[in-house]
Amino acid sequence: MTATIIDGKAIAARLSQSIADAAKRLTAEHGVEPGLAVVLVGDNPASEIYVRSKTAKTAAVNMRSSFYKLPATAPEAELLELVERLNQDPTVHGILVQLPLPPQIDSRKVIEAIAPAKDVDGFHPLTAGLLSTGLPGIVPCTPLACIMLAKHVHKSLAGLEAIVIGRSNIVGKPLAQLLLIENATVTIAHSKTRDLPEVCRRGDIVFAAVGRPEMVTGDWIKPGATVIDVGINRVPAEDGKSKIVGDVDYAGVAEVAGAVTPVPGGVGPMTIACLMLNTLTAACAQAGLAPPEIRTP
Ligand code: NAP
Repeated sequence: MTATIIDGKAIAARLSQSIADAAKRLTAEHGVEPGLAVVLVGDNPASEIYVRSKTAKTAAVNMRSSFYKLPATAPEAELLELVERLNQDPTVHGILVQLPLPPQIDSRKVIEAIAPAKDVDGFHPLTAGLLSTGLPGIVPCTPLACIMLAKHVHKSLAGLEAIVIGRSNIVGKPLAQLLLIENATVTIAHSKTRDLPEVCRRGDIVFAAVGRPEMVTGDWIKPGATVIDVGINRVPAEDGKSKIVGDVDYAGVAEVAGAVTPVPGGVGPMTIACLMLNTLTAACAQAGLAPPEIRTP
């Protein structure tokens, strides 16, 4: 079997177009220009790249983007003060503090300092609580991206066996909650799971969010299953430089799976599009308006 490639880049481009149209209408009809503030602390090269692409994308979908950079040595109090200023700023509807933060700063404290209404990353404990109790609220971007990509293949996820590898607060756990909302039967696997390959082979859909390059191989996958690869791992390339690979051995898995996301070009671009969607939704909510009508890509 040769898997269908789930083209996250193309799907994200369609979603972004719909968001850009809705943002333009929001500004024209209600005078609300959605605004996203991105905060970077330090000079982590990977974070610099992520932040640059997020700010560029914000402008491309007709939203206001603002960028704040603090030195790697910035004290925690300085970051908390900036977050509070952004919480109070009515032109800012979404706040994103790029992780990881330098060791002198407690990420948990910073995440909890972001006003839940502006928590477009969806990492605040209140946001997590709303999701796990099935109440409406912001949905974390990467898990939302994963669900959209899975639904690109399966009209309904109801009754499907979904295996989520990874139980982090930012990917694995919220993804499992979303899958439950979609009526999938969910297994969350982690580093202590016994016989992970056997667990994976049960999956009609396998989501890999592990952070281990190409760990999931073709023999872990049930023929015809859908595989969504969340991983972003930088590894040495043949030419002496480096390249990005996922948590899935793409070539091997593509021979067995029914559909698979590539890395890059799968979950990554959809995550950024979902960040834009969350910012737009947050702007509508803060203006007392109904959520935007967005065409499903
Ligand atoms: P994380 O916080 O490090 O969590 C990794 C999870 O994988 C943990 O639950 C861990 O289990 C589990 N794990 C580690 N080794 C394992 C093994 N050998 N077998 C089974 N499970 C194992 O990572 P994360 O933040 O969730 O990110 C996961 C990956 O997604 C990373 O590659 C990251 O770069 C990527 N990512 C991509 C996007 C995107 O936009 N595409 C966004 C976020 C993250 P324990 O809990 O038992 O330790």
